[in-house]
Amino acid sequence: MDCEKHPSTEKRYRDLVSAILADEAREKGGPVKAKQLRDWFYQYNGSYFRSELKRPAIVIEELGEGNLGYCDTRKRRIVISPRTVNYPEMARRTLLHEMAHLVSRGHNAKYIAVLEVFQENGEEWAGKMIDLYRGNWIVKEEFGQVLHPRDLILDVLDQIMIGAAGKKLDFRTVKRSIADSLDMDVKDVDEYCPWLREDYNKMKRIYC
Ligand SMILES: [Zn+2]
Repeated sequence: MDCEKHPSTEKRYRDLVSAILADEAREKGGPVKAKQLRDWFYQYNGSYFRSELKRPAIVIEELGEGNLGYCDTRKRRIVISPRTVNYPEMARRTLLHEMAHLVSRGHNAKYIAVLEVFQENGEEWAGKMIDLYRGNWIVKEEFGQVLHPRDLILDVLDQIMIGAAGKKLDFRTVKRSIADSLDMDVKDVDEYCPWLREDYNKMKRIYC
């Protein structure tokens, strides 16, 4: 992603994604080799994607702190971190997460449709991820924290408004910044945050 994300939000969000991918999947048995990842790609491309995905390069490579995997959609390259491959189930889920990015770069409605296929095929963790990306944050003890989409988004909104320091920020710009920060499409922000304008208006009176 080429956008500047609010670091603490970005981290919280990434931690939550990691928690879902790692949930109950921390059994040892790895490290999984790149060949296994490629075998899984073939298998799941067949069973979940009707073999419609063009083959990407799949490599195991060091990624930035906290990143389990990464999909470069332009270069068609999936990278799984060496830490992730130590846990086979986590590696498998991460690979599936990245494969879904070959269909859609963002975690938008198109991406969620792929997760639904995973879920229908018994990938229970994909259901949690759907909740996450739809903004229905799942509050589960295993995450050790309570997350609420509105709180999170208001946090980001707050940062944006403070960052603007008196400069006039129109609602469209704010929406775009929020979408960038949370790796969402602007239309997802419209869809899932119908209350946003009201909060923006309130904050505008405070900060601007
Ligand atoms: Zn993703």
